[in-house]
Amino acid sequence: MSEAAEKPKNFIRQIIERDLAEGKHQSVATRFPPEPNGYLHVGHAKSICLNFGVAANYQGTCNLRFDDTNPAKEEAAYANAIEEDVRWLGFEWNQEIRHASDYFEQLFQYAVELVEKGLAYVDELSPEQIREYRGTFEVPGKNSPYRERPVSESLDLFQRMRAGEFADGAMCLRAKIDMGSPNINMRDPVIYRIKHQAHHRTGDAWCIYPMYDFTHCISDALEGITHSLCTLEFEDHRPLYDWVLDNISIDCHPQQIEFSRLNLEHTVTSKRKLNQLVVEGHVDGWDDPRMPTISGMRRRGFTAAAIRDMCDRVGVTKKVNTTEMGVLENCVREDLDRNAKRAMAVLDPVKVIISNYPEDKVEQLSAPNHPQQDMGQRTLFMSREVYIDRADFREEANKKYKRLVLGKEVRLRNSYVIQANEVIKDEHGEITTIICSYDPDTLGKNPEGRKPKGVIHWVSAAHSLPAEIRLYDRLFNIPNPGSVDNFVSAINPDSLTVLAHARVEASLAEVEPETCFQFEREGYFCADRYECKAGKLVFNRTVTLRDSWAKIEQKM
Ligand code: ATP
Ligand code: MG
Repeated sequence: MSEAAEKPKNFIRQIIERDLAEGKHQSVATRFPPEPNGYLHVGHAKSICLNFGVAANYQGTCNLRFDDTNPAKEEAAYANAIEEDVRWLGFEWNQEIRHASDYFEQLFQYAVELVEKGLAYVDELSPEQIREYRGTFEVPGKNSPYRERPVSESLDLFQRMRAGEFADGAMCLRAKIDMGSPNINMRDPVIYRIKHQAHHRTGDAWCIYPMYDFTHCISDALEGITHSLCTLEFEDHRPLYDWVLDNISIDCHPQQIEFSRLNLEHTVTSKRKLNQLVVEGHVDGWDDPRMPTISGMRRRGFTAAAIRDMCDRVGVTKKVNTTEMGVLENCVREDLDRNAKRAMAVLDPVKVIISNYPEDKVEQLSAPNHPQQDMGQRTLFMSREVYIDRADFREEANKKYKRLVLGKEVRLRNSYVIQANEVIKDEHGEITTIICSYDPDTLGKNPEGRKPKGVIHWVSAAHSLPAEIRLYDRLFNIPNPGSVDNFVSAINPDSLTVLAHARVEASLAEVEPETCFQFEREGYFCADRYECKAGKLVFNRTVTLRDSWAKIEQKM
């Protein structure tokens, strides 16, 4: 039995299986319909995994469709980034990419059909008046004075709207449904508006554009979608989805099914807010490694497998919830623990001189790339001068401190046992060098009669390479930044720390951009996709070895 078959099925898969069993559908067709007005984020990843995932589960198809009905906000650059992100996440769409704009002519003809049937009319109320007439939850709407105008008049005006005779906002096309409906979406929704604006695909061909609710259901039907999966905020739009399809001549009627959005603690998942972070310069672009965008997570070193795993663990329900960042980070840790090679990097180096190690001697030591998996070996260079991390040495310490202490021994990982004998300080009292000695008889074995308690990482001073290390932390200090008025004020000022003087082992000289490593005792790090391509050794901390936030939050 496949892994997927063993898992309990979410409610959407239950619906699909019933539809297949009852012969309602022969196969499954889904779609992922992003609006190309920003980069995809972790919430979209959930929708992608669901739509492409169920299609794959039932040997069906999933289309990638750009919902590009709003010329003002959309850009081709976003569309390209979305394609790349979907592929990177590990999914392939059915045939060519679709665009709502591919259907502009058909959509127009369906709108004409509604007008001809007396089910849509051209309204000349101003946008403000339309809002006023719409009413509220408590107050029913009232009919526009243009609602009962003759079909021929609406038809003529609608054609002339298309021809460009009227200014933006002068009139619009509205579905004629029910201004008294308790569902505000059904109070004669606007289905076409005038917008004299070029579209990134159709250019100047159109100056009227269809609204989302009108476009989406028809696009689904034209593509033969069987199950149109969307987030809960569209639940109240479902009657309109169905109304449009019930009232035009189209055979296909997909079923809209809503599920709850993915919300992630300590971040925001709204394109508008993410855009604000970019535009106001709080982050360094959409793919800044602190961003919850797919490209940001990728640059940070999160793997596609880990993101898919997280979506799987979170599951698909109708319950509104917020996922802890720790869930995602644990998926990343598990994946990288299994699959990332080990290496040594010293983030805050202090020099160690091993006084009894011959001055021009260099030993090549072999170290496994992974403690459990067979990933080969790498060469470490041992020499008289090495770097260790400043935090791994103390002049005095109690027994709990299992690193290097003056007068005591510690093992250099994959190398010898050394003992600290003396420190050299600068005029500020800062340690510049630690003078040590080594026991030449401790390579791969404990010294006679003693067992050093600690193992620390190190690199050879002469053979290691300078590197920049970027430590990332939560972008927001509070769990739900999306819920406060000024979310920008909740930005964690320490979300990025740059360590410009780190040293990494020689084996990383030719590192492939985007490769992740476990830097022993420090965490998981990813070779920055841009900087490393440009020949600079820059590593982004993907995630720490353990969840330090869980501890802090418990204490708070
Ligand atoms: P945003 O609110 O960030 O602007 P959106 O819903 O406007 O997002 P779209 O490009 O329209 O973004 O979304 C494409 C698809 O992704 C839609 O089907 C939408 O329901 C889904 N989606 C968007 N955000 C989430 C989320 N947080 N969790 C799950 N699915 C999401
Ligand atoms: Mg949307």
